[in-house]
Amino acid sequence: NVRVRFAPSPTGPLHIGGVRTALFNYLFAKKYNGTFVLRIEDTDQTRYVEGAEKYIIDALNWCDIPFDEGPTSTALSIGSKNEKFGPYRQSERKHLYKKYADELIASGNAYYAFDTAETLDFHRKDHEAKGKTFIYNWHNRLKLSNSLSLSVEETQAKLDAGEDYVIRFKSPQDETLHLKDIIRGDIKIDTNVLDDKVLFKSDGMPTYHLANIVDDHLMEISHVIRGEEWLPSLALHYQLYKALGWEAPEFAHLPLILKPTGKGKLSKRDGDKLGFPVFPLQWTDPKTKDISRGYKEDGYFPEAMINFLAFLGWNPGTEQEIFSLEELIESFDLDRVNKSGARFDPDKTKWFNHHYMQEQSNDALAEMFKSTVDENVSFSNSSAVLSEASAMEPQAHYNNDIDVNYISLAIGLIKERATFISDFWELSHFFFTAPTSYDEKASKKALKDGTKALMTELINIINNNTDFTVETLQTEIKGWITSNEIGFGKVMMPLRLALVGALQGPDVFDIMFMIGKNETLKRIENIVK
Ligand code: GLU
Repeated sequence: NVRVRFAPSPTGPLHIGGVRTALFNYLFAKKYNGTFVLRIEDTDQTRYVEGAEKYIIDALNWCDIPFDEGPTSTALSIGSKNEKFGPYRQSERKHLYKKYADELIASGNAYYAFDTAETLDFHRKDHEAKGKTFIYNWHNRLKLSNSLSLSVEETQAKLDAGEDYVIRFKSPQDETLHLKDIIRGDIKIDTNVLDDKVLFKSDGMPTYHLANIVDDHLMEISHVIRGEEWLPSLALHYQLYKALGWEAPEFAHLPLILKPTGKGKLSKRDGDKLGFPVFPLQWTDPKTKDISRGYKEDGYFPEAMINFLAFLGWNPGTEQEIFSLEELIESFDLDRVNKSGARFDPDKTKWFNHHYMQEQSNDALAEMFKSTVDENVSFSNSSAVLSEASAMEPQAHYNNDIDVNYISLAIGLIKERATFISDFWELSHFFFTAPTSYDEKASKKALKDGTKALMTELINIINNNTDFTVETLQTEIKGWITSNEIGFGKVMMPLRLALVGALQGPDVFDIMFMIGKNETLKRIENIVK
């Protein structure tokens, strides 16, 4: 019975590394018909950030990786709150943890410590000065103030006096721990390098370590899939399971996500520095009001984001790169997750987006693009020209309020060159407004001595064309060029320049058909005026 959890701390927006962890948990759960749990690890109130939990949930929903159990029942979550395992915010489970800390003390696996921050700081600095690292464990324990160095009475007196304390795990001396990780295999750890980690504090709050393993146990988590930065905690977690007499879940630590250069871990700050988003959704810092870019707002499709995140540390073992969520569920497994860091490649994310752009229906894209068209057309001087044209030409669907069907047709002609919807206007403006200027270089290339005469003849041919379809336009114009041995460039270049304003864009016959006869003629007349 597979039960996995994504356990973020609400200390800020989820960066793509967090989303990748959530995704791998989700894929693993769905592959084995298991349950994907969202647990909010908010025991450290000092690091709590307003809005972070909502952000995490919104991000998972946008990515379409809904949780089955979690703090809120969202429209997308399949199961509802499961009373057996909830609540799913650690702050609401506060009453649960003390009992286990006490149990660990009773069994001799943990102890009270009363050292002040100043004392600990003194020891740290003192060790540093001697070129050593201070580790709070068997090596130093008895020199410090705790229930192992003090008598039972002394300890009790301090507790009775209400002195601040922490409960520390008692790490064993001279032992070798044999740990297992699904991705990394067997790991050996010498306990002498481990420090006696704090499990509980006198403010009544557990630390991450205690709350995390208690909850994984109570929530019957079968596999812990998390980032490599938690690997150093694995030894402690193993020992805690053992000390509490519980069976440990299986562990899989996902490889780091590296900067595009491959050097160093990708950080939350890299996005702004390197010019790409590192967050799924835009985030406004509640304190500074600084805004960080998000994939959603930058115009990425969630399918593209999921697809590229899946490849950060995993590969299918085949050449296939495009995977729908369903295909990922089918192909994914932890045995194909690598140990080595995964280099993040922002260009590849664009490549995926370009792919998923082509898969969207033109109609859906037209709905998303319409407001941009409306804005640009209503501010443009040439909109009057277009409305006039539309009244006379069946092909021109516009009236003052541009029709989505027309936009959809235009998108169909340009989308193969677009990565984002924000590229559309640059690629398609000539379908909506006449050129107001002509590219200088293009004009030099396209407009020659004979151009005016040729365009006059071309105007005649177009005028005489009765049905104005792409096919007849093409046959007649190409026929005229060939039979008179004019040379295609001499006609097609000025024609394109007239229609587009530059020597770019889709097939000229498609453009003519789209904008209609009157508008085509006007634009050609304009360029040789
Ligand atoms: N709360 C931890 C985090 O923020 C969870 C680590 C784990 O999955 O055990 O990532």
